[in-house]
Amino acid sequence: MKSDMSIIPYTKILYIEDDLGLAELVRIKLKREGYQVAHAETGNAAMTLMREQDFEVVLIDFYLPDMNGLEVLKGIQILKCKAACVMISGVDDMQLVVNAIKQGAEDFVLKDAGGAYLELLPTTLGKVLLKQRLIAEKEAAELEKNKSEVFYRSLIEHTHVVAWEYLPAAERFSYVSAQAEKLTGHSLEEWTSDGFWQASLYPEDYAKVTAFCSSLAHSQQEQGLEFRLLKKDGGELWLRQIVSVVEMGSGHGYVLRGFLIDITESKQALEKQRLAELVFDTIHEGIMITDAHNCIEAVNPAFTKITGYALDEVKGKNPSILSSGLQNSAFYASLWQSLNHYGHWEGEIWNRHKSGAMYAESTSISYVYDEVGKIKRHIAIFGDVTEKKQAAEKIHYQANYDQLTGLPNRQLFQDRLHSAVASAKRNNTKLALLFIDLDHFKEVNDSAGHEAGDRLLVQVAQRLNTCVRDSDTLARLGGDEFTVILNNLGTNHDLEQIARTILKLLEQPFSLAATGVDAAISASIGIAMYPADGQDDTSLIRHADAAMYRVKETGRNGFEFFTAEMNREAGKRQQYKSAFKDSLEKKEFKVFFQPVWRLSDGQVIGVEALSRWQHPEWGMVMPNEFIPVAEESGFIHELSLFVVKEVVKQIKLWDERGFNQLSVAINLSPTQFRRLDDWLAHMHNILSGYVVAPHRIKLEITETALMGDTIKLMNTLGHVQASGIEISLDDFGTGFSSLSRISSMPLNYIKIDKSFVSQIGRKGQFNVIEAITSMAHSMNCQVIAEGIETIAQLEYLKQLGCDLGQGYLCSRPVPAPDLLMLLQKGFMFN
Ligand code: C2E
Ligand code: CA
Ligand code: CA
Repeated sequence: MKSDMSIIPYTKILYIEDDLGLAELVRIKLKREGYQVAHAETGNAAMTLMREQDFEVVLIDFYLPDMNGLEVLKGIQILKCKAACVMISGVDDMQLVVNAIKQGAEDFVLKDAGGAYLELLPTTLGKVLLKQRLIAEKEAAELEKNKSEVFYRSLIEHTHVVAWEYLPAAERFSYVSAQAEKLTGHSLEEWTSDGFWQASLYPEDYAKVTAFCSSLAHSQQEQGLEFRLLKKDGGELWLRQIVSVVEMGSGHGYVLRGFLIDITESKQALEKQRLAELVFDTIHEGIMITDAHNCIEAVNPAFTKITGYALDEVKGKNPSILSSGLQNSAFYASLWQSLNHYGHWEGEIWNRHKSGAMYAESTSISYVYDEVGKIKRHIAIFGDVTEKKQAAEKIHYQANYDQLTGLPNRQLFQDRLHSAVASAKRNNTKLALLFIDLDHFKEVNDSAGHEAGDRLLVQVAQRLNTCVRDSDTLARLGGDEFTVILNNLGTNHDLEQIARTILKLLEQPFSLAATGVDAAISASIGIAMYPADGQDDTSLIRHADAAMYRVKETGRNGFEFFTAEMNREAGKRQQYKSAFKDSLEKKEFKVFFQPVWRLSDGQVIGVEALSRWQHPEWGMVMPNEFIPVAEESGFIHELSLFVVKEVVKQIKLWDERGFNQLSVAINLSPTQFRRLDDWLAHMHNILSGYVVAPHRIKLEITETALMGDTIKLMNTLGHVQASGIEISLDDFGTGFSSLSRISSMPLNYIKIDKSFVSQIGRKGQFNVIEAITSMAHSMNCQVIAEGIETIAQLEYLKQLGCDLGQGYLCSRPVPAPDLLMLLQKGFMFN
């Protein structure tokens, strides 16, 4: 039998034999087979060799000079030599051989006399060797198995993985590793109890897990699933499960085995990242991320929308490509300083869109640092605030500037005045406040229409603008009120100069193109100065206003410096306004009458009704004092209706006494033209109520009332005339209306202002009266001369062909009973 050649080479054999001839024979034989053979003559020599070298097989001749085979075996055991021992003995020593095998020998060979055993030896050796190798392999495998078992056990115990086994038939876990309790807070008993699995699944994931499990049933492959589990404390646990189906064989069904891995953290991180991406992509604010060298790394869609640049156009570039150049280097220096100091900057920047358009963005820039505190990135988040900024600017503009003229409005004026006063106080300088109020603007506005009025105001603003320096403030307070704050004032003389310039500029005609009419207008200017006239802004305003009012009262078209007396007057005006209300009811108002006579024969043909206010405390208040206040407050409307009533009552009385031809002139303020139709309707009501013929009434209007919408005015006056009421143009010569304009109006009388009459008898020219008279006559108007005080005046007027007269020379305005007495005396003035 041929031995297994594959295990022979290099197999080291020790042959112990005292018969040297035999030993040589065996050695040659085995060598030829491929073994390496060492020889020892005695047991002790063998022991020595075995200490030095490893052998796989030891051939032991039973009888040796120093010991027998059994003793050799013992020695080998003591040496813990792993070599297989094969005993060689004679036939008659069978018992010895049996003992040797009991002692651990692997096999034996019997020596026969013919030497046949030499042929047998290799076979025996091969057998022994094979067995020897098998055992070694098995031991090695066993060792390996033990090692990996320990490894896995410790793995399961020391990792966060939960190992488990699940019984699908019973619908419960049969085993879970200890980690399960640590991870979930549920005890291992709970884990393996019935219904645990179903109850602790996250409700939303229940269907998913159930479907997964049933799909597993006969799957051969390992499967994975991610799902959520409720922890004992109610918290959420994300798990990844890896399952394999283990068939139990022959009708025993299957079990599931697998692992659960806690993936909560990575799930949450993933969720966080997903959210961050979502925000990055959908937020309306632009986001730009740059690296440590401030080169653009990433931008979001909103960035592209705001700036016009897509990522590939800006990637790797410096954000300065967005720069508008509107911020100076100091701005950027402070930005970087803030970034370097606080790691953060916030503010507004004007940048440039890809198209070149500027836009404003509200930006916040932050540094992002790495683990060692080095700057890793910059993140800029910005929103387009152009519209917001524009809206804010618009709001600011609307809040501070007058829409019509573009001048600062009352709000801004007050702010500027406040700071001007504060700065004058600090620097010990003077300032002046000018209140400029246009004369009779309201009438122009009402009659010519708002458009024409607006056009006039714009032109006024433009002209005023030419008189002020940049350091001054010209403002429009509203309506026809303008103010000028003059800082760092020189002398009063300079101020007068400025006031005069303003008046002159405004005297030039204005074109109200829409109506095709040029309007002339004047202004009244009141001046108050800091610190002389007021220590604060409110008193300065009050005092400039009072000075302006004084100009109005004394004939307009001029300027006045504030005086203490004006202050008292302003106070008085305020008192008037509040007293008006009850005064009519208390019958404090009276109507006086002044005769108007025919110059040719001295016949009194009518009277003018003039109001008086008999105040219990203040005494007799004259119309020049209260009429402007009544006009301003609107009280004039009620007052003039009261006058109409009183007049009508008197007419009835005069009729009874036979003076049934006497007419009464009633004054109409220019401001009443705003509600003229309404007022006329009231008047006609009163007339018809008392059954008084309209031709007994005359209405006196002023030139100012004639400015504006000619057509409308002509219509209204035409109607008034048609109803029988005659119309007088009062105070003629003081206004600005052109003769051509007057000639187109339906008028019956022209009253020459007393300022012209008073000139008569003094040096100078009187051809103004002459001219007016001839013009009036050419218009079929009669001329009434007012304020005749002297015979000389009377004679002169008669000579000029003036038709009617009125004045102290004949009579002052008197109460109704006094007039009646005059009439009853048969009063004629000749
Ligand atoms: P007026 O319409 O020009 O009235 C004539 C003014 O001249 C009256 O002043 C009258 O007293 C005054 N007067 C008359 N003769 C002479 C004279 O010989 N010499 C001088 N120096 N003055 C003379 P009065 O009554 O003080 O009225 C002043 C102004 O008040 C009136 O001027 C008129 O415009 C206005 N007024 C008076 N009553 C009313 C009224 O009921 N309604 C309206 N809207 N205005 C009125
Ligand atoms: Ca009058
Ligand atoms: Ca008059």
